Amino acid sequence: MKFKGGYNVQIKGKPSNKTTRLPDPDLLYLPLFSKRFTFSAFCIHDGDKVVQGQILAEDPDNHSVPLLAPRAGTAKIDPETNHIVLENIQASQEAPKVEFELPDAAKGMGETGEKRCRLLKLGVWQFFSDAFSGDLPDPFGSPQAVIVSAAHLEPFLTSFEALLSEGTAGFEKGLEQLHSLSQAQKFYVILPKIKSNITNKVRDSAKKISGITLIEVPNKYPFDNAKLLARLLQLNPDKGSVWTTTTEGVLAVESALTSSKPAISRVISIAGPAVKSPEHIECIIGYPIDKIVEPYLETPLARIINGGVLTGDTVSGDQKGLDIECAGLTLVPEQAKREILAFAHLGFTKHAYSNTFLSLLRPPFKERYTTGVRGEHRPCICCTFCEEVCPSSLMPHLLHKYTEKNRLAEAERFGLNLCVQCGLCSTVCTSKIEIKQILLEGQEKLLQEI
Ligand code: SF4
Ligand code: SF4
Repeated sequence: MKFKGGYNVQIKGKPSNKTTRLPDPDLLYLPLFSKRFTFSAFCIHDGDKVVQGQILAEDPDNHSVPLLAPRAGTAKIDPETNHIVLENIQASQEAPKVEFELPDAAKGMGETGEKRCRLLKLGVWQFFSDAFSGDLPDPFGSPQAVIVSAAHLEPFLTSFEALLSEGTAGFEKGLEQLHSLSQAQKFYVILPKIKSNITNKVRDSAKKISGITLIEVPNKYPFDNAKLLARLLQLNPDKGSVWTTTTEGVLAVESALTSSKPAISRVISIAGPAVKSPEHIECIIGYPIDKIVEPYLETPLARIINGGVLTGDTVSGDQKGLDIECAGLTLVPEQAKREILAFAHLGFTKHAYSNTFLSLLRPPFKERYTTGVRGEHRPCICCTFCEEVCPSSLMPHLLHKYTEKNRLAEAERFGLNLCVQCGLCSTVCTSKIEIKQILLEGQEKLLQEI
């Protein structure tokens, strides 16, 4: 496999692999939304007493992926804030009894259908995506391939070293279970080419299971990107879905199939330049975000990003609790004042892809990044830095110009649909152009035209 482009942005605030378990709060705020899901079909009534692991609501447009009760308690449906609030919460040690009727699609699949249904009902299916579309794949479909991207290379998503710090036995078993139930002809485990105790163990686990191909990629962002990997592996989107998941998904498969444990808690990173002592935390879904963030905040004003620095979305003021898809909270100091004549600053403390700052004279360091854009937005100056870092071998400077002028046929001809939304072009752009966002809007317009 040939890798082109890619770039590791050097930012302060990498989380340690230590994981702190947060005590249960008094109230849980379960968002009825996440990046891909909208839980609009309620399975309970307002004021119902619910048990731990019970299905509270489902997303009818996404194979009925469920929103589970992370604890027993009293559920209050609050349509105005778009949350279910869980009061009087109580933890239970016992795994809930999962009773479900097999859907027609699963009936002819025997034990495999039952296992896949269990993954769906226990909230594990949410960890899966289709590599090409990013959508939730059909849990009862026949994937042409499975890609387990074991590591996250974007700063600062949950690290696989933290997830596997207590051992890799669960990961190995989960891989075997997933390999057998997917019945896919091709099964890949992707690992960055680095040497550490944990990567060595993951490598050994993957090599032990027959039918699994281990692929080692450069330790550079975004070579863990499933869409990019599917293309580099020459998988064809017309030949069916490519399931993709991460280490967390594999561990959740193992917990659900071995011990019937629902996926109601998460290990997430809490990291970024506005965090004192960045680390990992284990907490339940619906945990109040302000209560998570407050003890870690180092600066009075910070933007909370749901996900990594390059691809995450700002947490809106309407979101009160941790949603089911969060893979990390990144806190970046909010720059309240505008930087005047930023281009004239000497930049001993700043990085730029162009290496024009005097920081070039310093030994390697990690930057204290903020939300400021460093000066004005300017027209494209054709520096081609975006082209150099693009892992999809695109010309983002050309694509964004075609897309902005609504010349979508030309943009499509130059590969608009091959953009994997890694965000590197926007990050290195000398003129602060929001290329990734412009290309995403172009891709959406193209989809509407089909
Ligand atoms: S054009 Fe797309 S794939 Fe290329 S760097 Fe930009 S966001 Fe990444
Ligand atoms: S990095 Fe920005 S300024 Fe440079 S060529 Fe690309 S779009 Fe133009």
